[in-house]
Amino acid sequence: MIRDAATCDRANCLAIFLEPATLPDGQPFETALAAAGWQLDDAAGHVCPGCSRGTGPVLERGECPRCCGSTVDRRDGAACHYCKHVTPHPADDYDNFD
Ligand SMILES: [Zn+2]
Ligand SMILES: [Zn+2]
Repeated sequence: MIRDAATCDRANCLAIFLEPATLPDGQPFETALAAAGWQLDDAAGHVCPGCSRGTGPVLERGECPRCCGSTVDRRDGAACHYCKHVTPHPADDYDNFD
């Protein structure tokens, strides 16, 4: 399977956005990119959500689905250091957590 990818064009930023495997047929990559908080600027090129909100650049790669930035585990999920996106833990992770 060929997947599109975008990288942040800001200097020193390691952010990457990979086309989600769940992207519906016919939905443009740009739509998924924008939905993830990326911006496309004529002058600056692709800007990751972290850089566009002033919390970038991404200096360390990790598991963030939006920018591939490193994340920290919190009670409500894995929070990205950069774009602040929170990926909820799998439902069975906290079976007895109330
Ligand atoms: Zn960036
Ligand atoms: Zn992120």
